[in-house]
Amino acid sequence: MNFELTKEQQAYVDELRDFLQKEVAPGAAERDESEDFSGAFDILMNKMGPKGWLGVSIPKEYGGLGMGVISYALSMFEIGQVDSGVAAGFSVGLSLGTVPIQDFGSEEQKQKYLVPVAQGKKLSAFGLTEENAGSDAAMQETTAVRDGDDYILNGKKIYITNAEFAEVYTVMAMTDKSKGANGISAFIVEKGTPGFTFGKQEVKMGIWSSVQKELIFENCRVPAANRLSEEGKGFKAAMKALDVGRIGIGALSVGNAMGAYKKAMAFAKERITFGKPIITNQAISFMLADMAMQIEAAKWMVLHAAWLCDQGKPFGKESAMAKCFASDMGMKVCSDAVQILGGKGYLRDGDVERHLRDAKIQQIYEGTNQVQRMVISRALEKE
Ligand SMILES: Cc1cc2nc3c(=O)[nH]c(=O)nc-3n(C[C@H](O)[C@H](O)[C@H](O)COP(=O)(O)OP(=O)(O)OC[C@H]3O[C@@H](n4cnc5c(N)ncnc54)[C@H](O)[C@@H]3O)c2cc1C
Repeated sequence: MNFELTKEQQAYVDELRDFLQKEVAPGAAERDESEDFSGAFDILMNKMGPKGWLGVSIPKEYGGLGMGVISYALSMFEIGQVDSGVAAGFSVGLSLGTVPIQDFGSEEQKQKYLVPVAQGKKLSAFGLTEENAGSDAAMQETTAVRDGDDYILNGKKIYITNAEFAEVYTVMAMTDKSKGANGISAFIVEKGTPGFTFGKQEVKMGIWSSVQKELIFENCRVPAANRLSEEGKGFKAAMKALDVGRIGIGALSVGNAMGAYKKAMAFAKERITFGKPIITNQAISFMLADMAMQIEAAKWMVLHAAWLCDQGKPFGKESAMAKCFASDMGMKVCSDAVQILGGKGYLRDGDVERHLRDAKIQQIYEGTNQVQRMVISRALEKE
């Protein structure tokens, strides 16, 4: 066993951290208030993309840095501390939007779609959720009907992160309803394809600087060459993407909690009440100790799941555990951080309440924590 980062990983983390402090942290609260993804998109595509970071875990032969899923998790630890809009765009782009292409795509599809995403020239998105297909994702109502060399897509996806900004969409649609989950196929749909438009932008509790919109397909003709793998493999591709994505959400929860913890620690050392810094009260210092302990536990669960994934070992149970534990932890730690800052913690300009708002979604998307417990318990039953 080895708990140390490699030299390459450490150098990457150092450079990323420095970049985030200088270029991303200063405008994070302002971008959040704007409820507009444009600022985060600009950072992703014009500053991080050219460094190759949007392809950190994608293999080198497909334009990435080939540093594995551990480095994806390390990225999320850092980005999650400062800007959840950048983190959401980065995370979807490196997991949900691309894993189906990486693992289920043909060589031609990978060259055409994965390479530009890995090189940071295009952003990707993932369309699975529908009005009646959230936790029960197999209940897809979007259809894809074969017509010669094309499929005709009809239906609507909701809450899709990166929508309209992304150029490459991995979309699930039913090709044979009689087969249930085995009748779902995955397609790559390019922005600008006739019949593919975007609906309303969602207004949310948190992660304001990220974007979620509907994807609307009305007689949208997609080449059969854009189907990933065989017909009926779409659900499997989506579940694999979510397994990897949950490592990212676990890591993002750790990062977001770390951001809140650091602000709470700094405040606790400075804030004087009853003639001494509040950290000298055991009630506060034990709270900070618990926060640090919980963050540490979640961090190692995330890294373990990422390591299993990089080793080619089964990791679905561990990624569900890491996502679930880390996001539950994130809510507790961020709430305690607000508490430590007192009234200032509750105010918008205190910049800690943002972490609490941003923590909540981590318990919900990429499978709610109830669904994670279903995944975990089913895996445990089989052991
Ligand atoms: C900000 C945001 C970004 C998102 N980004 C994307 C994206 O990019 N792409 C995408 O495809 N989707 C995306 N989603 C969708 C997200 O993954 C779903 O919202 C989530 O999986 C839950 O589905 P649902 O909202 O339909 O909840 P429901 O399935 O309606 O669940 C409602 C409640 O019931 C519980 N529940 C459901 N079934 C069970 C059960 N069997 N046992 C116990 N409890 C149960 C759930 O845990 C939840 O508490 C996003 C959502 C949000 C809010």
